Amino acid sequence: MSDCLFCKIVNDEIKASKIYEDEKVIAFNDINPQSPVHILVIPKQHIPSINQIDESNQSIIGHIHLVINKLAKEKGLADKGYRIVNNCGKDGGQTVNHLHFHLLGGRDMQWPPG
Ligand code: AMP
Ligand code: ZN
Repeated sequence: MSDCLFCKIVNDEIKASKIYEDEKVIAFNDINPQSPVHILVIPKQHIPSINQIDESNQSIIGHIHLVINKLAKEKGLADKGYRIVNNCGKDGGQTVNHLHFHLLGGRDMQWPPG
């Protein structure tokens, strides 16, 4: 999508601190980190949110979680733990309408979230 911030990062029209890429996804550091490790993992395909996941594209969700698993190990988070967040829609706090999962780690997380 031409006016989507994360599509522009996928297409290298906007620079991001990219740390992983394969044929289906990219991962990059969040510009406004909420924890010592704060990585966003996104599909290359423009999918607005979890609301648009269906039988045809559901495999991307598993793939993203495999990538998160790998990145958590690489960043030394796997043993201590970490949090995976997906914000969906206005009440969920989604501000960029291109599906993304936050990988947050490196500090104690609080519960419930705000
Ligand atoms: P959400 O609020 O779940 O939609 O998350 C959007 C995230 O994108 C926020 O954590 C922002 O800090 C992050 N973000 C916005 N613009 C950029 C950018 N240019 N590069 C990296 N992260 C960004
Ligand atoms: Zn997009």
